[in-house]
Amino acid sequence: MKNAARVLNGIEIAAEIKAEVAAEVRALKAAGVTPGLAAVLVGHVAASEVYVRSKVKTCAELGIWSEMVTPPESVTTDEMLALIAELNSRDEVDGILIQLPLPAHVDTRRLLEAVSPEKDVDGFHPVNAGRLQSGQPGLRPCTPAGIMEILRRSGLPVAGKHAVVLGRSDIVGKPVAMMLLHAHATVTVCHSKTVDIGRYTRDADLLVAAIGRPGFVTAEMVKPGATLIDVGINRVTDAAEVGRFFPNDLGRAAQFGKRGSTLVGDIDPAAFALSGAYTPVPGGVGALTIAMLMHNTVQAAKARRGAGVLVAKA
Ligand code: NAP
Repeated sequence: MKNAARVLNGIEIAAEIKAEVAAEVRALKAAGVTPGLAAVLVGHVAASEVYVRSKVKTCAELGIWSEMVTPPESVTTDEMLALIAELNSRDEVDGILIQLPLPAHVDTRRLLEAVSPEKDVDGFHPVNAGRLQSGQPGLRPCTPAGIMEILRRSGLPVAGKHAVVLGRSDIVGKPVAMMLLHAHATVTVCHSKTVDIGRYTRDADLLVAAIGRPGFVTAEMVKPGATLIDVGINRVTDAAEVGRFFPNDLGRAAQFGKRGSTLVGDIDPAAFALSGAYTPVPGGVGALTIAMLMHNTVQAAKARRGAGVLVAKA
Protein backbone atom coordinates (compact mmCIF):
# COMPACT_ATOMS: atom_id res chain seq x y z
CA MET A 1 0.00 0.00 0.00
CA LYS A 2 1.26 3.50 -0.82
CA ASN A 3 2.39 5.54 2.19
CA ALA A 4 0.55 8.80 2.80
CA ALA A 5 2.35 11.96 1.67
CA ARG A 6 4.24 13.69 4.45
CA VAL A 7 3.11 17.21 5.31
CA LEU A 8 6.04 19.61 5.81
CA ASN A 9 4.69 21.83 8.55
CA GLY A 10 6.12 25.32 8.02
CA ILE A 11 4.55 26.66 11.19
CA GLU A 12 6.39 24.12 13.36
CA ILE A 13 9.70 24.66 11.57
CA ALA A 14 9.32 28.44 11.83
CA ALA A 15 8.64 28.09 15.59
CA GLU A 16 11.84 26.06 15.95
CA ILE A 17 13.88 28.73 14.12
CA LYS A 18 12.30 31.54 16.13
CA ALA A 19 13.15 29.76 19.38
CA GLU A 20 16.78 29.49 18.24
CA VAL A 21 16.84 33.16 17.23
CA ALA A 22 15.38 34.17 20.63
CA ALA A 23 18.17 32.22 22.37
CA GLU A 24 20.78 34.01 20.22
CA VAL A 25 19.18 37.37 21.07
CA ARG A 26 19.37 36.57 24.80
CA ALA A 27 23.07 35.70 24.45
CA LEU A 28 23.74 38.91 22.50
CA LYS A 29 21.87 40.98 25.07
CA ALA A 30 23.92 39.39 27.85
CA ALA A 31 26.97 40.65 25.93
CA GLY A 32 25.43 44.15 25.76
CA VAL A 33 24.14 44.00 22.18
CA THR A 34 20.46 44.37 21.24
CA PRO A 35 19.80 43.51 17.59
CA GLY A 36 17.62 46.10 15.85
CA LEU A 37 15.45 46.19 12.76
CA ALA A 38 14.07 49.26 10.97
CA ALA A 39 11.01 48.57 8.82
CA VAL A 40 10.09 51.18 6.23
CA LEU A 41 6.44 51.19 5.21
CA VAL A 42 5.43 53.76 2.59
CA GLY A 43 1.80 54.89 2.32
CA HIS A 44 -1.19 52.71 3.17
CA VAL A 45 -1.18 49.45 1.20
CA ALA A 46 -3.35 47.16 3.34
CA ALA A 47 -1.38 43.95 2.69
CA SER A 48 1.95 45.71 3.32
CA GLU A 49 0.64 47.10 6.62
CA VAL A 50 -0.34 43.59 7.73
CA TYR A 51 3.10 42.18 6.77
CA VAL A 52 5.07 44.95 8.48
CA ARG A 53 2.97 44.79 11.64
CA SER A 54 3.55 41.06 11.77
CA LYS A 55 7.31 41.54 11.36
CA VAL A 56 7.44 44.17 14.11
CA LYS A 57 5.35 41.95 16.42
CA THR A 58 7.68 38.99 15.84
CA CYS A 59 10.69 41.21 16.66
CA ALA A 60 9.06 42.03 20.01
CA GLU A 61 8.38 38.35 20.72
CA LEU A 62 12.01 37.44 20.11
CA GLY A 63 13.53 40.41 22.00
CA ILE A 64 14.69 42.25 18.85
CA TRP A 65 14.37 46.04 18.99
CA SER A 66 12.42 47.43 16.06
CA GLU A 67 11.32 50.73 14.63
CA MET A 68 8.66 51.37 12.02
CA VAL A 69 9.27 54.31 9.69
CA THR A 70 6.20 55.40 7.76
CA PRO A 71 6.81 57.98 5.03
CA PRO A 72 3.69 59.19 3.20
CA GLU A 73 2.63 57.83 -0.22
CA SER A 74 3.91 61.12 -1.75
CA VAL A 75 7.51 60.53 -0.61
CA THR A 76 10.12 61.15 -3.35
CA THR A 77 13.06 58.96 -4.31
CA ASP A 78 15.45 61.61 -2.94
CA GLU A 79 13.62 61.73 0.39
CA MET A 80 13.75 57.93 0.60
CA LEU A 81 17.47 57.97 -0.22
CA ALA A 82 18.05 60.42 2.63
CA LEU A 83 16.04 58.21 5.00
CA ILE A 84 18.01 55.10 4.00
CA ALA A 85 21.31 56.97 4.42
CA GLU A 86 20.24 57.89 7.95
CA LEU A 87 19.28 54.28 8.77
CA ASN A 88 22.58 53.06 7.29
CA SER A 89 24.47 55.38 9.62
CA ARG A 90 22.58 54.57 12.85
CA ASP A 91 24.47 52.05 14.94
CA GLU A 92 21.44 50.57 16.72
CA VAL A 93 19.91 49.59 13.34
CA ASP A 94 21.30 46.22 12.24
CA GLY A 95 18.70 45.45 9.59
CA ILE A 96 16.76 47.64 7.18
CA LEU A 97 13.72 46.32 5.39
CA ILE A 98 11.85 48.32 2.79
CA GLN A 99 8.41 46.81 2.38
CA LEU A 100 7.53 46.28 -1.29
CA PRO A 101 5.79 47.25 -3.47
CA LEU A 102 6.67 50.95 -3.35
CA PRO A 103 4.59 53.60 -5.15
CA ALA A 104 5.25 53.65 -8.92
CA HIS A 105 6.86 57.13 -8.85
CA VAL A 106 9.64 55.88 -6.57
CA ASP A 107 12.77 54.26 -8.04
CA THR A 108 12.65 50.92 -6.20
CA ARG A 109 15.87 49.53 -7.65
CA ARG A 110 17.86 52.62 -6.66
CA LEU A 111 16.51 52.45 -3.12
CA LEU A 112 17.26 48.76 -2.66
CA GLU A 113 20.80 49.41 -3.87
CA ALA A 114 21.16 52.27 -1.38
CA VAL A 115 20.69 49.96 1.63
CA SER A 116 24.04 48.99 3.12
CA PRO A 117 24.70 45.34 2.08
CA GLU A 118 25.63 44.65 5.71
CA LYS A 119 22.10 45.73 6.80
CA ASP A 120 20.25 44.24 3.83
CA VAL A 121 18.23 41.68 5.80
CA ASP A 122 15.97 40.95 2.80
CA GLY A 123 19.04 39.88 0.83
CA PHE A 124 17.96 41.90 -2.24
CA HIS A 125 21.10 44.02 -2.69
CA PRO A 126 23.21 43.10 -5.78
CA VAL A 127 26.22 42.60 -3.49
CA ASN A 128 24.33 39.94 -1.54
CA ALA A 129 22.98 38.40 -4.77
CA GLY A 130 26.59 38.19 -5.97
CA ARG A 131 27.72 36.66 -2.68
CA LEU A 132 25.00 34.04 -3.04
CA GLN A 133 26.00 33.27 -6.61
CA SER A 134 29.67 32.86 -5.70
CA GLY A 135 28.89 30.85 -2.57
CA GLN A 136 30.30 33.45 -0.15
CA PRO A 137 28.73 34.11 3.23
CA GLY A 138 26.14 36.88 3.07
CA LEU A 139 22.55 37.79 3.85
CA ARG A 140 20.23 35.49 1.86
CA PRO A 141 16.68 36.30 0.63
CA CYS A 142 14.26 35.10 3.31
CA THR A 143 11.77 32.95 1.35
CA PRO A 144 14.40 30.88 -0.51
CA ALA A 145 16.43 30.53 2.70
CA GLY A 146 13.24 29.31 4.41
CA ILE A 147 12.74 26.68 1.70
CA MET A 148 16.26 25.37 2.29
CA GLU A 149 15.55 25.23 6.05
CA ILE A 150 12.39 23.20 5.44
CA LEU A 151 14.34 20.69 3.36
CA ARG A 152 17.29 20.53 5.78
CA ARG A 153 15.27 20.28 8.97
CA SER A 154 12.95 17.67 7.44
CA GLY A 155 15.96 15.55 6.48
CA LEU A 156 15.06 15.61 2.78
CA PRO A 157 18.14 15.00 0.64
CA VAL A 158 18.95 17.51 -2.10
CA ALA A 159 22.37 16.38 -3.37
CA GLY A 160 22.12 14.44 -6.62
CA LYS A 161 18.39 15.13 -7.00
CA HIS A 162 16.78 16.77 -10.02
CA ALA A 163 15.29 20.00 -8.68
CA VAL A 164 12.91 21.88 -10.96
CA VAL A 165 12.12 25.49 -10.05
CA LEU A 166 9.10 27.17 -11.64
CA GLY A 167 9.64 30.94 -11.70
CA ARG A 168 12.78 33.06 -12.11
CA SER A 169 12.09 36.15 -9.99
CA ASP A 170 14.95 37.84 -8.11
CA ILE A 171 13.05 37.28 -4.86
CA VAL A 172 12.29 33.55 -5.08
CA GLY A 173 13.02 31.61 -8.28
CA LYS A 174 16.59 32.65 -9.07
CA PRO A 175 17.95 32.62 -5.50
CA VAL A 176 16.35 29.28 -4.60
CA ALA A 177 17.73 27.76 -7.83
CA MET A 178 21.19 28.99 -6.82
CA MET A 179 20.83 27.64 -3.27
CA LEU A 180 19.74 24.24 -4.61
CA LEU A 181 22.70 24.22 -6.97
CA HIS A 182 25.06 24.95 -4.06
CA ALA A 183 23.39 22.07 -2.21
CA HIS A 184 24.39 19.84 -5.17
CA ALA A 185 21.05 19.38 -6.88
CA THR A 186 20.87 19.30 -10.66
CA VAL A 187 18.67 22.33 -11.28
CA THR A 188 16.24 23.18 -14.08
CA VAL A 189 14.57 26.60 -14.03
CA CYS A 190 11.29 27.05 -15.94
CA HIS A 191 9.49 30.32 -16.67
CA SER A 192 6.69 31.78 -18.77
CA LYS A 193 8.52 31.11 -22.04
CA THR A 194 9.36 27.48 -21.25
CA VAL A 195 7.75 25.13 -23.78
CA ASP A 196 5.96 22.10 -22.27
CA ILE A 197 6.70 22.65 -18.56
CA GLY A 198 5.25 19.22 -17.70
CA ARG A 199 8.13 17.57 -19.51
CA TYR A 200 10.45 18.98 -16.82
CA THR A 201 8.18 18.75 -13.79
CA ARG A 202 7.42 15.06 -14.44
CA ASP A 203 11.14 14.35 -14.04
CA ALA A 204 11.53 16.43 -10.84
CA ASP A 205 12.52 14.70 -7.60
CA LEU A 206 12.07 18.10 -5.99
CA LEU A 207 9.68 20.68 -7.40
CA VAL A 208 9.60 24.30 -6.23
CA ALA A 209 6.65 26.23 -7.66
CA ALA A 210 6.89 30.03 -7.43
CA ILE A 211 4.87 31.55 -10.27
CA GLY A 212 1.72 32.98 -8.71
CA ARG A 213 -0.78 30.89 -10.75
CA PRO A 214 -3.42 29.05 -8.66
CA GLY A 215 -3.14 25.27 -8.99
CA PHE A 216 -0.95 25.52 -12.09
CA VAL A 217 0.87 22.24 -11.38
CA THR A 218 -1.63 19.42 -11.80
CA ALA A 219 -1.39 15.83 -10.55
CA GLU A 220 -0.44 14.69 -14.09
CA MET A 221 2.59 17.00 -13.99
CA VAL A 222 4.34 15.51 -10.94
CA LYS A 223 6.48 12.44 -10.43
CA PRO A 224 4.94 10.13 -7.81
CA GLY A 225 6.90 10.35 -4.55
CA ALA A 226 8.47 13.75 -5.39
CA THR A 227 8.94 16.52 -2.82
CA LEU A 228 6.65 19.44 -3.65
CA ILE A 229 7.46 22.90 -2.32
CA ASP A 230 4.61 25.31 -3.01
CA VAL A 231 5.62 28.96 -2.72
CA GLY A 232 2.56 30.41 -4.45
CA ILE A 233 0.05 32.39 -2.43
CA ASN A 234 -3.08 32.99 -4.51
CA ARG A 235 -6.38 34.26 -3.19
CA VAL A 236 -9.25 32.42 -4.89
CA THR A 237 -12.66 34.08 -4.79
CA ASP A 238 -14.60 31.95 -7.25
CA ALA A 239 -16.80 29.31 -5.57
CA ALA A 240 -16.53 26.86 -8.49
CA GLU A 241 -12.75 27.10 -8.42
CA VAL A 242 -12.66 26.53 -4.67
CA GLY A 243 -14.87 23.46 -5.16
CA ARG A 244 -12.56 22.15 -7.86
CA PHE A 245 -9.39 22.57 -5.77
CA PHE A 246 -10.87 21.36 -2.50
CA PRO A 247 -13.66 18.84 -3.25
CA ASN A 248 -15.15 17.35 -0.06
CA ASP A 249 -13.10 19.72 2.13
CA LEU A 250 -15.69 21.00 4.59
CA GLY A 251 -13.15 23.19 6.42
CA ARG A 252 -12.28 25.10 3.25
CA ALA A 253 -15.91 25.39 2.27
CA ALA A 254 -16.73 26.88 5.68
CA GLN A 255 -13.78 29.28 5.47
CA PHE A 256 -14.81 30.36 1.98
CA GLY A 257 -18.41 30.84 3.13
CA LYS A 258 -17.23 33.09 5.95
CA ARG A 259 -14.54 35.13 4.19
CA GLY A 260 -15.50 34.93 0.53
CA SER A 261 -12.01 33.72 -0.40
CA THR A 262 -9.42 31.08 0.37
CA LEU A 263 -5.72 30.64 -0.37
CA VAL A 264 -4.38 28.16 -2.87
CA GLY A 265 -0.78 27.65 -3.95
CA ASP A 266 0.71 27.13 -7.41
CA ILE A 267 0.24 23.37 -7.04
CA ASP A 268 -3.19 21.78 -7.34
CA PRO A 269 -3.84 20.12 -3.94
CA ALA A 270 -4.75 16.92 -5.87
CA ALA A 271 -1.03 16.58 -6.70
CA PHE A 272 -0.07 16.54 -3.02
CA ALA A 273 -1.62 13.10 -2.55
CA LEU A 274 0.86 11.63 -5.04
CA SER A 275 3.92 13.29 -3.51
CA GLY A 276 6.38 11.93 -0.98
CA ALA A 277 6.25 15.21 0.96
CA TYR A 278 4.73 18.63 0.41
CA THR A 279 4.32 22.08 1.90
CA PRO A 280 0.65 23.07 2.35
CA VAL A 281 -0.78 26.51 1.55
CA PRO A 282 -1.22 28.15 3.98
CA GLY A 283 1.09 26.79 6.69
CA GLY A 284 4.08 25.86 4.53
CA VAL A 285 6.74 28.11 3.01
CA GLY A 286 4.90 31.33 3.91
CA ALA A 287 5.41 30.67 7.61
CA LEU A 288 9.20 30.65 7.21
CA THR A 289 9.73 34.07 5.67
CA ILE A 290 9.43 36.16 8.85
CA ALA A 291 11.43 33.60 10.86
CA MET A 292 14.28 33.92 8.34
CA LEU A 293 14.05 37.72 8.47
CA MET A 294 14.57 37.50 12.23
CA HIS A 295 17.46 35.08 11.67
CA ASN A 296 19.03 37.51 9.18
CA THR A 297 18.66 40.45 11.57
CA VAL A 298 20.55 38.59 14.28
CA GLN A 299 23.22 37.43 11.80
CA ALA A 300 23.61 41.04 10.60
CA ALA A 301 23.96 42.25 14.20
CA LYS A 302 26.60 39.64 14.93
CA ALA A 303 28.55 40.29 11.73
CA ARG A 304 28.51 44.08 12.15
CA ARG A 305 29.65 43.87 15.73
CA GLY A 306 32.26 41.22 15.13
CA ALA A 307 30.44 38.78 17.40
CA GLY A 308 30.37 36.11 14.73
CA VAL A 309 30.63 35.53 11.04
CA LEU A 310 27.75 35.16 8.68
CA VAL A 311 26.93 31.57 7.99
CA ALA A 312 25.71 30.67 4.51
CA LYS A 313 23.35 27.76 4.97
CA ALA A 314 23.30 26.86 1.27
P1 NAP B 1 6.93 37.19 -9.83
O1 NAP B 1 8.01 38.17 -9.53
O2 NAP B 1 5.65 37.64 -10.41
O3 NAP B 1 7.56 36.07 -10.79
C1 NAP B 1 6.77 35.06 -11.31
C2 NAP B 1 7.64 34.11 -12.12
O4 NAP B 1 6.80 33.06 -12.57
C3 NAP B 1 8.28 34.74 -13.35
O5 NAP B 1 9.60 34.28 -13.48
C4 NAP B 1 7.40 34.28 -14.49
O6 NAP B 1 8.09 34.05 -15.70
C5 NAP B 1 6.92 32.94 -13.97
N1 NAP B 1 5.62 32.60 -14.55
C6 NAP B 1 4.48 33.31 -14.51
N2 NAP B 1 3.49 32.66 -15.13
C7 NAP B 1 4.02 31.50 -15.57
C8 NAP B 1 3.49 30.39 -16.28
N3 NAP B 1 2.21 30.35 -16.68
N4 NAP B 1 4.31 29.37 -16.56
C9 NAP B 1 5.60 29.40 -16.16
N5 NAP B 1 6.17 30.42 -15.48
C10 NAP B 1 5.37 31.45 -15.20
O7 NAP B 1 6.52 36.37 -8.53
P2 NAP B 1 7.34 36.03 -7.17
O8 NAP B 1 7.52 37.27 -6.37
O9 NAP B 1 8.51 35.18 -7.47
O10 NAP B 1 6.21 35.15 -6.43
C11 NAP B 1 5.72 33.94 -6.96
C12 NAP B 1 4.63 33.42 -6.05
O11 NAP B 1 5.19 33.18 -4.76
C13 NAP B 1 3.47 34.37 -5.82
O12 NAP B 1 2.28 33.63 -5.66
C14 NAP B 1 3.83 35.05 -4.51
O13 NAP B 1 2.67 35.49 -3.82
C15 NAP B 1 4.49 33.92 -3.78
N6 NAP B 1 5.45 34.37 -2.77
C16 NAP B 1 5.34 33.84 -1.53
C17 NAP B 1 6.24 34.21 -0.55
C18 NAP B 1 6.13 33.61 0.80
O14 NAP B 1 5.67 32.52 0.95
N7 NAP B 1 6.52 34.25 1.84
C19 NAP B 1 7.24 35.14 -0.81
C20 NAP B 1 7.35 35.64 -2.10
C21 NAP B 1 6.44 35.25 -3.08
P3 NAP B 1 8.81 35.23 -16.54
O15 NAP B 1 10.07 35.52 -15.80
O16 NAP B 1 9.05 34.60 -17.87
O17 NAP B 1 7.85 36.37 -16.57
